[in-house]
Amino acid sequence: MKKLVSSITLIGLTISMLAQLANAAEVYAPVPEKINGVMNSAAPSDAIVLFDGSDLDAWQSADSEEAAAWTIEDGVVTVKNGTGSIKTKQAFADFQLHIEWSPTATIMGEGQSRGNSGIFLNSIFELQVLDSWENPTYVNGQAGSVYLQHAPLVNVSKRPGEWQSYDIIFKAPLYAASGELESSAYVTVFQNGVLVLNTVEILGATYTEEPEYSNRCTPYGQTREQDCSGPMPLTLQDHGQVVSFRNIWLRELR
Ligand code: MG
Repeated sequence: MKKLVSSITLIGLTISMLAQLANAAEVYAPVPEKINGVMNSAAPSDAIVLFDGSDLDAWQSADSEEAAAWTIEDGVVTVKNGTGSIKTKQAFADFQLHIEWSPTATIMGEGQSRGNSGIFLNSIFELQVLDSWENPTYVNGQAGSVYLQHAPLVNVSKRPGEWQSYDIIFKAPLYAASGELESSAYVTVFQNGVLVLNTVEILGATYTEEPEYSNRCTPYGQTREQDCSGPMPLTLQDHGQVVSFRNIWLRELR
C-alpha cells in the first residue's frame, strides 16, 4: 500500500513538473498582428492525395493497424472525439503539404480548448490547429505556431466555421548511421496564403520534457517507441474538440 501511495505521489509530482515546464515554455507577447488571407485548394498533378472527401483509405489509427475512425460527411472529415489521433499509412521525408481545416462554427471552450487539433510533422512535431479568432492564448500555442516553440508571424485566422488552409514545406531531420542528429527539421508555413512561419528550425519533439531530437521516439498518439531516423507518417490530432479537414494533398520533395 505504501509503495502504491509513493508511486501515485511520484506520478503526481511528474505531472506537476511537466505542467510547470509547459507553463515556462508558454509565450504571451508580442501578440501577432491580425490580418486577412486567401486560399487555393487545387492539387498539382504530381501530388499524393491523402483525402479527397471520399474515404480515409490513406489513414489509420495512430496507435494501431485499425482503420481511422473519424467521421466523413459531405466531403469533409471531422475528428470523432475519443477515437484517437490518426496517421497516414505512408511515411514521408521532405514534403510540401496542403491541408484545409475548420473548427466548429459553434464556439465551445476558450484558449487551448477551442477548436484544438494539430498536424504532427514526422508524427512528433506539432503544427498547431486552433480557433485563433479572437481567442487569446499563449502566442506559441495559437494557430500557425510550432507548438511551444515558434509563434506565427501574423494572425491570419478566420472566424470559426470558415475554412482555412495550411501550405507547409517541411524538411525532415537527418540522422547519421550512428544515430546522431546531423541536421534539425525546418518548416515554412503559409496560413490562408500568408507566410506565418519562415524556415524556422524545429527544436525537437513537441511532447518531450524539453524539445529534443532522438533517433528513437514515441509518435504522438502512439504508445510504443520506434525508430524515428527515417521517413515518418503524418499525424492528425484528436484533442477532444470538433475540427474538420478537407483537401489534403502532399508532394514529396526527395
Ligand atoms: Mg493541438
